[in-house]
Amino acid sequence: MRAKTLDGREIDLKQDGLDALKMRLRGPVFASGDAGYEESRTVWNAMIDRRPAVVVRCLGIGDVIAGVQFARANELLLCIKGGGHNIAGLATADGALMLDMSLMRGVWVDPRGKVAHAQAGCLLGDVDRETQVHGLAAVLGFVSLTGIAGLTLGGGFGYLTRRWGWTSDTVIGMDVVTADARLVRASSEENADLFWGLRGGGGNFGVVTGIDYALHPVGPEVVGGLVAWPASEAPRVLELYRTLAAQAPPELTLVALLRPAPPAPWLPKDMHGKPIVALLACHTGSPEEGERAVAPIKAFGTPIGDVLVRRPYAQLQSLLDGTQPKGRRYYWKSEYLPRIEPALCEQVIEHAARIPSPHSAVALFQIEGALNRTEPGHSAVGNRDARFVLNLAGSWERAADDASNVAWAREAWSDMRSFSTGGTYLNFLTEDEGPERTAAALGNGLSRLAEIKRAWDPHNVFRTNRNITAARA
Ligand SMILES: Cc1cc2nc3c(=O)[nH]c(=O)nc-3n(C[C@H](O)[C@H](O)[C@H](O)COP(=O)(O)OP(=O)(O)OC[C@H]3O[C@@H](n4cnc5c(N)ncnc54)[C@H](O)[C@@H]3O)c2cc1C
Repeated sequence: MRAKTLDGREIDLKQDGLDALKMRLRGPVFASGDAGYEESRTVWNAMIDRRPAVVVRCLGIGDVIAGVQFARANELLLCIKGGGHNIAGLATADGALMLDMSLMRGVWVDPRGKVAHAQAGCLLGDVDRETQVHGLAAVLGFVSLTGIAGLTLGGGFGYLTRRWGWTSDTVIGMDVVTADARLVRASSEENADLFWGLRGGGGNFGVVTGIDYALHPVGPEVVGGLVAWPASEAPRVLELYRTLAAQAPPELTLVALLRPAPPAPWLPKDMHGKPIVALLACHTGSPEEGERAVAPIKAFGTPIGDVLVRRPYAQLQSLLDGTQPKGRRYYWKSEYLPRIEPALCEQVIEHAARIPSPHSAVALFQIEGALNRTEPGHSAVGNRDARFVLNLAGSWERAADDASNVAWAREAWSDMRSFSTGGTYLNFLTEDEGPERTAAALGNGLSRLAEIKRAWDPHNVFRTNRNITAARA
């Protein structure tokens, strides 16, 4: 079998070597043609089409160690797949040995200590479902099928960010298999430098096998959901968004979305495919306070649909899942914003009107709050001046439409990037974004990250990520 080495050479992987690896593993090993190989090698974004030489589906830490040792012994390129949701397809690489973590989905909750230990192959929904049993939640993202590992290692934001910060701010510790295949603990007490870098440095330092999250009381019932209007209302709705966001308590998170209406049952059939503007809201305080806080949204103008109601938090966490299926083609451009300015709203409306696909959207996520108050050097995630995230989210079905959809996102981005803080979200960078964008995402932390990289991964074994070595070059 042909495989790729770290320095880009092609080599033959001998069958007896692979057989010896298999003897050491609890989980299965796949190569091209094996049942299971396609599922492992494919990722959420169908624009990415890469073929690892061999996939190890890890069943535990022992399998991860064996996989890293085998890769090192054969000098193989190594990639790690969590939820496979990275837009740039960083989980997969041609000719590599892939550690597919997706069988490691255990979650253990300590309700008294308010901590969840989650194995690194968990999806967000796995953690939410287990923590909500106790009325607790970790700070995670908006789509339940996203992997916790990639999200947490690159920063992470969602409905709870305004109250408790980036996801990585709320991590208490991680278990990590290092480049020399040792299992170590990273926390503020042990290997504090590694711990700092793991929280935002994007998987550059090892294979994370488990993450301990601090939990917070949330729900189980919250007020959350969407209200939508025709796009002709967008100027007024975005002005409402600006006003409400400026005075929203930390319990309330607001997201503005402009896109063609999806064929959702809560939207009238004759609006499907037509441009709409919607506000997505979540209030995680008491339901009574939540209803008061979202009342101005529900009372605004004449909505074409309103599903902003009391509902279980875990249900809200999967409300958007259907709009982001695996296997479509995706291309994003993103920036952090210091504020929402009227001139930006005009650009948002103009570019939303030119969306060439029924699935694409312009999104404005409110994240301001705890992350801005945390001291700048707390973790590698940085970007403590970010208050909103702009995402130009292209999504379509046919390869023949790649050029027009990519062009739409790029043009909109080039018109709107002047509103940016100068920073961008590591986890939203697309395949064609180079080291200078990685550097923009990592910000002031880059030189400290480079030192940690030298200490923990001097040979850059972990390079199929937003690579710190490249960003420093
Ligand atoms: C539909 C959708 C919704 C999203 N919503 C949000 C959101 O609300 N908030 C938010 O912050 N982000 C969001 N994201 C972005 C998300 O954080 C990134 O896509 C993230 O990379 C996903 O993690 P993953 O484990 O699924 O990624 P993967 O593609 O599996 O991996 C991403 C990177 O992490 C590395 N990695 C994965 N597992 C490990 C591990 N165990 N140890 C070391 N490195 C590892 C991989 O090698 C790769 O470099 C969303 C993405 C999508 C596609």
